[in-house]
Amino acid sequence: MRLSRYFLPVLKETPSEAQIVSHRLMLRAGMIKQSAAGIYSWLPMGFKVLRKLEDIIHEEQIRAGHIPMLMPTLQSADLWRESGRYDAYGEEMLRIKDRHGRDMLYTPTAEELITDIFRSNVSSYKDLPLTMYQIQWKFRDEIRPRFGVMRGREFYMKDGYNFDLTKDDALHAYNRHLVSYLRTYERMGLQAIPMRADGGPIGGDYTHEFLVLAETGESEVFYDSEVTDLTFGDREIDYDSVEQCQGVLEEFTSRYARTDETHDEALFNAIPEERRRVARGIEVGQIFYFGTKYSDALGATVQDADGNSVAVHMGSHGIGVSRLIGAIIEASHDDKGIIWPEGVTPFHCGIVNLKQGDSEADAACENLYKALIKHGLEPLYDDRNERAGGKFATMDLIGLPWRITVGPRGLKNGVVELTCRRTGESEELTPEACIEKIHRIYS
Ligand code: ATP
Ligand code: MG
Repeated sequence: MRLSRYFLPVLKETPSEAQIVSHRLMLRAGMIKQSAAGIYSWLPMGFKVLRKLEDIIHEEQIRAGHIPMLMPTLQSADLWRESGRYDAYGEEMLRIKDRHGRDMLYTPTAEELITDIFRSNVSSYKDLPLTMYQIQWKFRDEIRPRFGVMRGREFYMKDGYNFDLTKDDALHAYNRHLVSYLRTYERMGLQAIPMRADGGPIGGDYTHEFLVLAETGESEVFYDSEVTDLTFGDREIDYDSVEQCQGVLEEFTSRYARTDETHDEALFNAIPEERRRVARGIEVGQIFYFGTKYSDALGATVQDADGNSVAVHMGSHGIGVSRLIGAIIEASHDDKGIIWPEGVTPFHCGIVNLKQGDSEADAACENLYKALIKHGLEPLYDDRNERAGGKFATMDLIGLPWRITVGPRGLKNGVVELTCRRTGESEELTPEACIEKIHRIYS
C-alpha cells in the first residue's frame, strides 16, 4: 500500500476523551472513529488488524476441530423467553420491536440460538461430539462504555458452543478450548493467563477467564508468579487426545490464579510470599462448561446407544476480538506509539523515502516495494512529500515492527537502513539482503 493513496487519518493532538493509552493510540493512529457511545467505525488500519486476529482465531479453531458458521445479530425474543434469559438478562440487552410489534433483540451471546439449531437438526448420539463457532458482532448496552474498544456496547466476539453426550466428553471440549486459546493468544504476541472465574449469567461451575496483565485492566487478579513463566510455544498437540489436552489444562491451571470474584485469601496466603502477586488484568476470553442448563430448558436431547433420550452436555467459549486490539496495544507500546507484534501487524514493514522526488531514491523505494510484494509481504510505503521527521513519527505511531529507510546518502554506498520498532536498533543492508531478512522474519 502506498500511503499517499491510503486512508490513514492520524491525529496530531492527543484526544482528550481517551483515558487509557490503547484508546488514545487507536484514535491517533486512525484505526477507529466513535460513532456513538461505545460504538465505533473501524477505519482501514483498524479493520486490517481486526481481520488478522480473525484469521488467527479461525486457524486455531479449525485446527482444534471446531466448525465455523454464522448466526444473525438480530434474534427473536421467543427463544430467550424459553430459556428464561429474556427477563434475567436485564438492561444490558438491547430490545427492539419490528414493524409487526414482535419482540426482537440484538444478540449479546448466542447459547439459545445455537441450541435451537442443534435441537432442530440433531437427534442421535452418533452426531456427537459437535463444536461450532462464529465470529460475529454482539451488543450489550453497557452502563458505562469506556476505554474505546475495550468496553464497547457493540463489540466483535468469537463465540463457540460444544454439544457432547457425556460430562466427560464436554470437559474434553472445555480442555480443547483452553489449549486452542493458549495458542491463539500466543500467536497474537500476548500472554493471557487462564484464571478461575465466576459463571455469571451464563452459569456453570467450570469456567476460566483469560487475562492479560495490564495496569489499566478492569479486573483485580491474584496469582502465583510462577504462572507467568508458562508458555505454550510451538508444541504439537493432538486435540483428540484426552490425556494431552487434560495435561495442558493441569499445567496451566494448577497454580493459583484467580479473579477477585473467586479469590480465596487463605489459599492465596499458602503460596510463598515472594511468589504472591496482586495485579490488574484485561479479560480477553472465557470458557464455560455448564452441563445441561440450556439443553434442559430448550429440550436439546439425543438418543444414546441404548435408545434413551438424554439432554446434551454443553459449554460456551468466547474471545473478545475487538477488545484484544486494545489489550495488545496496552501490552505493547512506548512513548512514540504502538509496537505491533509480528503476528498481528497491519503491514509487515514500512518504507520511508527520505527524499521523495529524488529519482534514485524514488526508484530504490519502488524496487523495494515491488520486491516485497512479490515475496508475499505487505509493505506500507510512505511516498508522501513530507519531511523525514514527520514520516518517522507516523511510522512510530502506527507501530509497524520493521522500517526500511531509503535515502540518497545510503544509496551512494548501495545500502538502505532497517530499523526494528521494538528495540530501535538499525543496521545497514543492501536492498536485497533487507528483503531477504524481512522475508525470513515472517516465514
Ligand atoms: P466483562 O466481565 O468484561 O463484562 P463478560 O464476562 O461479560 O465480560 P463474556 O460473556 O465472557 O464477557 O464474553 C466473552 C468475551 O467478550 C470477554 O472475555 C471479553 O473479552 C469480551 N467482551 C465482553 N464484553 C465486552 C464489551 N462490552 N466490549 C468489548 N469486549 C467485550
Ligand atoms: Mg467473561
